[in-house]
Amino acid sequence: MPQLIYDPARIDFTRAGTHHYQVAFGQDGTWGFVLVPLTVINGLRGAGPPGVYINGGNHGNEYEGQVAVKRLCQDLDPAVMRGRVILIPQLNEPACVAGIRHSPLDGVNMNRAFPGNARGSITYRIADFVKRFVFPQVGVVIDIHSGGKEGAFPMCTSFHPIADPRQQAEMATVAKLFDPPLVMIYSRQMHSGLLPDEAEDEGKITIGSEFGGGETCSIQGTRHAYEGSLNVLRHYGHLEGAVTRVDPSRARPPRFVAAPSISDYTPCPRDGIWEPVVELGADVGEGELLGRLHDFGDHTSPPLEIRAPRTGVLMMEHLGAVCRKGATLFVIGEEVEL
Ligand SMILES: [Zn+2]
Repeated sequence: MPQLIYDPARIDFTRAGTHHYQVAFGQDGTWGFVLVPLTVINGLRGAGPPGVYINGGNHGNEYEGQVAVKRLCQDLDPAVMRGRVILIPQLNEPACVAGIRHSPLDGVNMNRAFPGNARGSITYRIADFVKRFVFPQVGVVIDIHSGGKEGAFPMCTSFHPIADPRQQAEMATVAKLFDPPLVMIYSRQMHSGLLPDEAEDEGKITIGSEFGGGETCSIQGTRHAYEGSLNVLRHYGHLEGAVTRVDPSRARPPRFVAAPSISDYTPCPRDGIWEPVVELGADVGEGELLGRLHDFGDHTSPPLEIRAPRTGVLMMEHLGAVCRKGATLFVIGEEVEL
């Protein structure tokens, strides 16, 4: 069984070998605890590489990261490793147990709760633990997502536009190690409080991802998450060996597609049933038909045709057929060289 931790200050992040923990956070208003799984590995071949932190389960209904990181907890062998790796397979543990995006205990989205608050409700306190205890141990932060029910994405890694060119260049290198068809550079203007915001602002090499969607556990997405993480550890020297292709069936290298402005995110103009007609990741031309919004109140009414406002790459669209006015319907980005 993992070692139970009541006081995070007592975790020895420098201890050699693999150590499994459950970090106890008192539940709000009850005598119970939330037990967040944590594994800390310090390779027996010495120090050297920057610490790497990888989590799944930032959103509870996104499973590829949870599965891949849980496997890493068991598979990584400190006897053949250098440096430090910190793994949390289910970051928002109550949300993961419930299979939903937000914590069922306080209704908070972990990926809006950063930098956290030591005196806040449960989700803020877990975020605060990551910020104050985990981030200081590492130089690389990997936050694995898979769309949930929010949106449909092509398999992608992701990051925000970064002012520091050296940080941005290294992030582009690490994003490619997961060998996805697309690397998404997304706007920082839509939300605040994301885990990647905090890590990027600390200067860490920070990579997000969308490796699936629709509350499934996709074969290919789990492969990108797991094998890509091993590639990160090979790249920095935690593991011996060369970086390998994750999807050798795809000839094209990862494409960088940027949608840095909030105006790239198009809201659904009215309630309707969304019928997409373009595949995710496809190149689209200005004025091209992306899909139709149907109103079944009168089945003889013509659908509202939704057309591309610009030429670019379709890097996200609404996942569900039922689309509410104001929900992000699609995002078209621009291919960039990095
Ligand atoms: Zn997510």
